[in-house]
Amino acid sequence: MTPAASSVYDLIVIGGGSAGYAAARVATDRGKRVALIERGPFGGLCILRGCMPSKTLLRSSELAHLAAHADGLGVRTGGITIDYPAIIRRKEAIIRGFAEYRIQEVRQRPLITLVEGSARFLNPHRVEVDGAVLDAPRIIIATGSRVFVPEIPGLAGQGYWTSDEALDADALPQRLVVIGGGVIACELGQHFARLGVQVTILERGPNLLRRHDPEFGRALGGCFQEEGITLHTDVQFHEVTRHGRSKMAVITTEGRRLSVHGDEILLAAGRTANIDGMDLAAAGVKGGAEGIVVDEHLRTSHPDVYAAGDVTGTFQLTHVAVSQGEIAARNALGDPLQAADYRIVPDVIFSDPPFARVGLSEIDATRAGRPVLAASYPYDDLGKAICTGQTKGFVKMLADPTTGEILGIGLLGASAPELIHEAVVAMHYRATVSDLLQIPHFHPTLAEIFTYPAEELAAKVQAGGGVSSHA
Ligand SMILES: Cc1cc2nc3c(=O)[nH]c(=O)nc-3n(C[C@H](O)[C@H](O)[C@H](O)COP(=O)(O)OP(=O)(O)OC[C@H]3O[C@@H](n4cnc5c(N)ncnc54)[C@H](O)[C@@H]3O)c2cc1C
Repeated sequence: MTPAASSVYDLIVIGGGSAGYAAARVATDRGKRVALIERGPFGGLCILRGCMPSKTLLRSSELAHLAAHADGLGVRTGGITIDYPAIIRRKEAIIRGFAEYRIQEVRQRPLITLVEGSARFLNPHRVEVDGAVLDAPRIIIATGSRVFVPEIPGLAGQGYWTSDEALDADALPQRLVVIGGGVIACELGQHFARLGVQVTILERGPNLLRRHDPEFGRALGGCFQEEGITLHTDVQFHEVTRHGRSKMAVITTEGRRLSVHGDEILLAAGRTANIDGMDLAAAGVKGGAEGIVVDEHLRTSHPDVYAAGDVTGTFQLTHVAVSQGEIAARNALGDPLQAADYRIVPDVIFSDPPFARVGLSEIDATRAGRPVLAASYPYDDLGKAICTGQTKGFVKMLADPTTGEILGIGLLGASAPELIHEAVVAMHYRATVSDLLQIPHFHPTLAEIFTYPAEELAAKVQAGGGVSSHA
């Protein structure tokens, strides 16, 4: 919808993704008139090019892998054929459904005016969208993130896929070079490998999943290598160039100079705040590629401008974006000030085995100088995991040495994305390891895995809380 030449709203929200829509929803629930500005397409990263399309595709490669390895459980499937265009068509139909549903949601809220175009600040209470001027006493920036492009000579010239192209391509390359070792590199790298693509992952750090305790990334890297994925760590990039019909990354790893060939390169080295062309300075808002600076109330350096979601550079997770959008809207509209609480932020990587974590990691605790007790337990010693043949991975639990309160749980292993919610609930109620032991766990289940490190930690707390560092 195109607004009149100058329109006044109760709230302007820039960006119609998870954070922006959440903010607009909260504001209209309070009877406020909202201009929701979206440069398009409407729907946001999670629905259109993030969580939902990636998880839709991953299910197909997971099934292909299970079918190919079912003979170990006495199930012979014969040959497997991958119909990749059909996989992509299924993804597109599902995403179309989610996107249409979101548009319906907006249409059912007449107090939202959807303004199409790119917003630019004129001052802290005024933005311009394609020549139209919009005013509001409060503005929320929810413009998300874009792919971070590292400075590797030749990369831009040779071209690369981002996750956008990787999710949309309906033909599989023969060889794929993946730059990065975080969530997108792991999820999409393994997806393509399981469909027959020769995948090489190039990671600058010493292991995958750099933001988490290193034993998780090391273990996942080992699983990837067992599946035939080539993994190079501690990589130094020299250049990307062309060799015949293939692209070639020239790197140094473990003191050796190597040329890594691929038909395509997937750039998955992180994402950066989407603020280009917004003229934040005109609104007195501070921020850069690492994100717009906000306080715990999601308020920027200008008191009438708030920010929420990926653009704040905090977590880049949908549930955080939604929660921040809601809090920013309430605070912007004058509710009693609410602070964002990041004590419990579940994080999940849908690799196989998948990884999930909530609360403190041991590296966070060490950095903060906080003493913790740690205990781990492997899946290959867990009855249910042995029955189902899902023995890769382990759980790691951290507790306060004095009180036994559970401070963090990381889980690499089957069903981790679902199981982590037991840890989320326990931590929400500030449960101790002894509390967790009193909660019944059905036998045999994968959820029983939490009881073993809890038992070890409870004994340590009872014995006086000798602080350990456990790998
Ligand atoms: C491949 C992939 C997989 C992912 N998987 C997961 C997952 O499984 N779980 C999870 O929690 N997270 C996942 N994420 C991250 C998740 O998608 C994001 O954290 C979340 O969508 C961020 O929401 P947002 O509202 O902050 O930003 P967005 O949804 O990106 O919304 C920002 C909107 O602002 C618009 N915009 C930008 N600039 C302007 C402007 N100047 N004017 C007007 N409009 C503008 C954009 O067009 C966009 O629609 C994934 C991301 C990727 C890339």
